[in-house]
Amino acid sequence: MKIIKSNKELEVLNSKKLAFVPTMGNLHAGHLKLVSEAKKLEYEVIVSIFVNPLQFGKDEDFDSYPKTLKEDKLKLISKECDYLFLPKSEELLNGIHQETSKYNNFLCGIDRPEHFNGVASIIRKFLEIIQPNSIIMGEKDFQQTLVIKELIIKHNFKCKLITIPTARENSGLAMSSRNNYLTENEKMQAAKIYSTLVDTKNLIFKNGFKRKDLKNKINYLKKNNINVIYFDLFDAESLESINESPRLKGDFVLATAAKIGNTRLIDNIVFSI
Ligand code: AMP
Repeated sequence: MKIIKSNKELEVLNSKKLAFVPTMGNLHAGHLKLVSEAKKLEYEVIVSIFVNPLQFGKDEDFDSYPKTLKEDKLKLISKECDYLFLPKSEELLNGIHQETSKYNNFLCGIDRPEHFNGVASIIRKFLEIIQPNSIIMGEKDFQQTLVIKELIIKHNFKCKLITIPTARENSGLAMSSRNNYLTENEKMQAAKIYSTLVDTKNLIFKNGFKRKDLKNKINYLKKNNINVIYFDLFDAESLESINESPRLKGDFVLATAAKIGNTRLIDNIVFSI
C-alpha cells in the first residue's frame, strides 16, 4: 500500500481508475466492508483518513476523536488497499469552497448546524484532487449519502456514488468509531436503538404509519436512558417527515439520532413499501 501525503503525489493517479473511500480513521469492520466492496469494482482503491474540522461543531469531539493510524494501516493492508491518502490539513483546506447542501437543515443538521455543509465542502475538494471513478460510502450515514449525491450532480463530477449496507455488531448495534466511547453496559443499551427501529418498521408494515406507535417507541428508548434527538420516518429522497397514513407507498428511511451519556449515535433502516 502506497502512502500519499500531498496533492502533488496524487497527480500520478489521475490516469488510473480509482474507487475512493473517505474516512476519518479509527477503522472498524464497517469501514473495511467499504474497502472490500471497492476492491470488487476492479479499480484501484484509495482510502483517505482525515478528521475533517469543518464538519464538527465547537462543542463536539474533534480534539478527542479516536486516532489509531498504526492499526488502521495494518487493517487496510490486510484488505489489499492500494493507496492510503493522509492529507495535510493546511493543503486540503487551503482555498476550499464552502458548499451548501439543501439537506443541511434536516435530521442531523438540526443539532449539527454546519455539519453537512462541512462534509460537502471537504468531499468536493477530495473529488477534485483525486478524480475517482467511484466513491464508496456507508448507508449508516444515510443523510450524508444524499448530500454527496447532490454534490456530484451539482458539479457534474464523473464519479459514481456506491452505498453499502450498515455493518453491525452481533447485538445489532451499528458499528461506529464513537462506540469506543461506550462502556460494555452502554453498548448493550445502545443495541436497543436498532431493535426499536426494526420493531417500528415491522409495525408500519403491519398497521400503517401511526404517530402514536412512534411516540411509544421513543418513550421506550427514553425509559432505557437513551436520549432521543430525533426518531422519525422520512421520505428517502426529500427527507421530509412523513404524515400518518394507514397505507404508505414509496421509499422511506426510518432514522434516529440519540445520545447515551455524551456519545451521539445514529442509525436508520431504509425501506420501500
Ligand atoms: P467515518 O470514518 O465515520 O467518516 O465513516 C467513513 C465511511 O464509513 C462513511 O461512508 C460511513 O458511512 C461508513 N461507515 C461508518 N460506519 C459504518 C458501518 N457500520 N457500516 C458501513 N459503513 C459505515
